[in-house]
Amino acid sequence: MPLLTCGAIEALLLRGADALKKVYLPKMVEGSWTGTMNLTEPQAGSDLALVKAKAIPEGENYRIHGQKIFITYGEHDLAENIIHLVLARTPDAPEGVRGISLFIVPKFLVNADGSLGKRNDVHCASIEHKLGIHASPTAVLIFGEKEGALGYLIGEENRGLEYMFIMMNAARFAVGLEGVAISDRAYQQALAYAKERVQGRDLAGGGKAVPIIRQPDVRRMLMSMKAQAEAMRALAYVVAAAMDIAHRDPDATLRAKHQAFADMMIPVVKGWSTESCIEVASTGIQVHGGVGYVEETGAAQHMRDARITTIYEGTTAIQSNDLVGRKMAREGGATAKELIKAMRVVEGELAQVQGEDMADIRAGLAAGIKAVEESVTWIVSTYARDPKAVHAGSVPFLKLMGIVCGGWQMARAALVAQKRLAAKEGDAAFYQAKIGTARFYADHVLAQAPGLRNTVVRGAAGVMALTEEQF
Ligand SMILES: Cc1cc2nc3c(=O)[nH]c(=O)nc-3n(C[C@H](O)[C@H](O)[C@H](O)COP(=O)(O)OP(=O)(O)OC[C@H]3O[C@@H](n4cnc5c(N)ncnc54)[C@H](O)[C@@H]3O)c2cc1C
Repeated sequence: MPLLTCGAIEALLLRGADALKKVYLPKMVEGSWTGTMNLTEPQAGSDLALVKAKAIPEGENYRIHGQKIFITYGEHDLAENIIHLVLARTPDAPEGVRGISLFIVPKFLVNADGSLGKRNDVHCASIEHKLGIHASPTAVLIFGEKEGALGYLIGEENRGLEYMFIMMNAARFAVGLEGVAISDRAYQQALAYAKERVQGRDLAGGGKAVPIIRQPDVRRMLMSMKAQAEAMRALAYVVAAAMDIAHRDPDATLRAKHQAFADMMIPVVKGWSTESCIEVASTGIQVHGGVGYVEETGAAQHMRDARITTIYEGTTAIQSNDLVGRKMAREGGATAKELIKAMRVVEGELAQVQGEDMADIRAGLAAGIKAVEESVTWIVSTYARDPKAVHAGSVPFLKLMGIVCGGWQMARAALVAQKRLAAKEGDAAFYQAKIGTARFYADHVLAQAPGLRNTVVRGAAGVMALTEEQF
């Protein structure tokens, strides 16, 4: 709920008229009114060109009519008022995405003195029964059953989708962070259980049953959860820093460079962290054995909650199509080539340090960078002639980007840890664990990169092999 309220606040701040800002912003910022995003309709999910909700001009304002579905916190009584941001079309708007406008539609109309007035003509028809996120009410909303819901235009007509995209970048990044958070929570819970649950003997000998954390496969599962959560978090923070620089740095060239990097990486943070968090939450259940599958432990809840993250704010395919099309092919892979250069610098630094762990981390990263480079070259050279082939491998490519960029961060962390250990600075056990986790990541996660490269470059033929009748 706070995420969507922040999105609504941002849209108002950036594009709202002063009078609207004055009425709505203070209450939304202090948290007594909450915000929603109303995009989805039964026939318009990933494809917002199909939005049908109508906005009929009435004086300076509009009357909104239509149905929206799946609206997060669309109805509740936790706040005094709900401020809906709604996509709708004016009567003479052009077809498709260029004819969509953005409106503010409050649940309760606001009087001139700021007090709440009568109920607006927007009503909740039902609340969805969902697989997970049971604490988040997801509503079907009907606008304009009677006279029409009073709506106030944000910015200019027909530019609504563009304004929504300003918020969507932040919202997509935030859902990526949801993936990081669920992964870490699932890991913490599995770790606590693995230290407590006694089962099986130690392979090294001794007759007594031991906590399962001493079983090598449980170690493998815990390390895969820990390593992936750390890699996802580090990558998300690097992208967050780029967003800050793009926003505030006085140097315009640097701002543009970081904006291009953030634009390319936001679909990766969103898509990769969320796809991975489902796997991590599932592994968390496996660590628990049978009690993970029953509800009492809470391990299953992480998996049920994780499952939505690859769907809302754009499914993984929508992220990966954006990545290969708008963010890569359109600019000839220029930003991706800069990224490859930056990763090669770290590979070079790894070559300067001694030790088997660091050599292994370097080998994994080098193979990963090569896989990304070959995939980018193929995408850029194929997109114009055969976009379907590129889209057929876009989700595997997004995963490849996530894995390798995560490996880049794990390698950077290992380099810092190595320096601190050599200088005998700080907590040695913490730094040794960083190097050990980066090595695990190289051998178990980065190792997937060459296979994903083959899927991206060669996989389209198999994806498109059957006619629709042959399925
Ligand atoms: C719990 C929950 C909360 C939500 N909250 C909100 C909210 O607050 N506001 C809001 O407006 N919406 C919300 N949504 C809607 C959500 O954003 C959509 O469900 C999502 O965008 C996918 O649209 P869809 O469900 O129509 O699936 P579809 O678009 O029908 O997609 C079905 C499948 O087809 C694939 N697909 C579709 N188009 C393409 C393409 N071009 N290329 C490749 N694959 C494609 C998808 O990846 C998916 O696998 C929520 C949904 C849920 C379940």
